[in-house]
Amino acid sequence: MRVLLVEDEEKIANAVKRGLELKGYAVDTVADSDTGLSYAVDPDYDIIILDRMLPGSKDGLDIARQARAEGQMAPILILTARGSVEDKVEGLNAGVDDYLVKPFSFSELVARMQALLRRPPVPTSSVLSYADLTLDPAKYEVARSGKAIKLSNKEFALLEYFIRHSEQILTKDMIINHVWNEDAIVMPNTVEVYIGYLRSKIDRAFPNQPQLLNTVRGFGYKLSR
Ligand code: CA
Repeated sequence: MRVLLVEDEEKIANAVKRGLELKGYAVDTVADSDTGLSYAVDPDYDIIILDRMLPGSKDGLDIARQARAEGQMAPILILTARGSVEDKVEGLNAGVDDYLVKPFSFSELVARMQALLRRPPVPTSSVLSYADLTLDPAKYEVARSGKAIKLSNKEFALLEYFIRHSEQILTKDMIINHVWNEDAIVMPNTVEVYIGYLRSKIDRAFPNQPQLLNTVRGFGYKLSR
């Protein structure tokens, strides 16, 4: 899950980034509205969190409005010090999906994010599945044929990306852009290493089941039967 956080209060930005990364999200942080807009149009984000009041020529709602106008489909959550009804109506008109009034608790932010990420096109059930694999993004649980599998945060994020895009070829670049944040120095080899870890846990540990995580030579990888 890739998250964009546009927040000028450094303390909040750092705390949220650190907390979300511990939960396995890849988080990019931006501190002003103009840079924020240039990031917010990127279709690779799964969710966008915007502070309402930002330095620069725009506020959070302007970013939301313009990102939507440029086709951004990801859920957008606004952080605001104000919580009046007028603000909420204005936000809904700008294409905002939810509001969180400051000060907020980290657990409430995560709960709101998970609720937004569960919305269609993701199926109504929060548990994702492919073949005999299941992954519960809310509980951080993975199982194959009902047997629990322990994954690291990165392996979990990688598998979630594959299950959400099953039977599609995912290139190394797509994987890097999706699973790692932009500050991370990721070599194509790193992806191979993580694919190897994941394969040993979801495929090699189940020798009687078909291999699901397959290499498509010259292109990338595909979760397929
Ligand atoms: Ca602010």
